[in-house]
Amino acid sequence: MGEIRVDRIEQINTYYTCKETLERRMVMKGRKSGFRSETKEAYQEWRTGLKQTLSDLIGLQNMTPCPLRAETLEKVVIEDGITREKVIIEVEEDVWMPVYILIPEKVNEVPIPCFMAAPGHLGAGKYSVAGRREIPAVRDAIERFHYDYGLQMAKLGYVTFCPDCRGFGERREAALQQDTENAFLNSTCFHLAHMAEPLGQTVIGMCTWDLMRLIDYIQARGEWKCEKVGCLGFSGGGMQTLWAGAMDDRIGISIISGYMYGYRDSLLTLNGNCSCNYVPGLWMHADMGDIAALHAPAPMLIQSCREDDLAGHSGLQNVIEQLEIIRSAYRLQGLEDRIVHDVRPGGHCFHPECLAPFLAHAQKVYEGEL
Ligand SMILES: [Zn+2]
Repeated sequence: MGEIRVDRIEQINTYYTCKETLERRMVMKGRKSGFRSETKEAYQEWRTGLKQTLSDLIGLQNMTPCPLRAETLEKVVIEDGITREKVIIEVEEDVWMPVYILIPEKVNEVPIPCFMAAPGHLGAGKYSVAGRREIPAVRDAIERFHYDYGLQMAKLGYVTFCPDCRGFGERREAALQQDTENAFLNSTCFHLAHMAEPLGQTVIGMCTWDLMRLIDYIQARGEWKCEKVGCLGFSGGGMQTLWAGAMDDRIGISIISGYMYGYRDSLLTLNGNCSCNYVPGLWMHADMGDIAALHAPAPMLIQSCREDDLAGHSGLQNVIEQLEIIRSAYRLQGLEDRIVHDVRPGGHCFHPECLAPFLAHAQKVYEGEL
């Protein structure tokens, strides 16, 4: 770095900005399709309408269906007798998604035996989620965020599918195709957002599509009872779980960690987040709580950390307001006990201790139903 010079510029004393106007516009005009129903029938009508609106906004109509082709590339036994398969699945024509499948020696004989575990940023995609601790950079990411929740689920007896979402791990686009630690851990979802949005697509739409295709694959294998599957994720993985559960009714249990905040504080006032979080037009229609309310009747765990900076200046209050939207929607159907809010100390991080008690609760909900 050279010395800081101020003699080559004009110094600005007053800036003429527009952030405040955008915030005001969001307050005045935003969330016009938010949850406000007062009867079960009105909720169903609202749900159908918002699902369609969101599907259009994220560009699901612009995805290209293709036959379900898959190839198994690897099969190894890892710790605790868990078998790890690596498969690639064709999600759109010529677009392949690598997935680690962790199969426990003894699969839970419970209503929902299969879970998808979506990755968040800075964990090299499926490598951290599937617990590849023997890779030092991955081990550090796991220790920082407790990122190995796919492996933790397999240890609890669930068949767990850990995909690389678009732009992550082996799906990095050209900008980060280097064998450096930084490139390996990072993702090109930022670049994908710029490529997709002018084409009427979004990263959220592409990731949601891929998880829907993964459910097709899980069901087509026919090895486990999976009329419904579970989905979980932390941070960007929480974002994917939020959207996949809203768009696909086959998701019967949702675990969203570190991704439930009001959009205004978290993505407008705080505006340095990755471009993959942004959907053109979204805030005019819905807040995060409205999207999560579409998961009903699925049991849902929302996990929040008290000092998570991503919640914005009002902190946990910005989470609680969204929780209230979700609870209202579930309450209307007498299902409020299906929502669990797990609050932990510290910053942005996944806490696996919540998994076993919540899953016992969620499975109970389904006993006798499936
Ligand atoms: Zn991103």
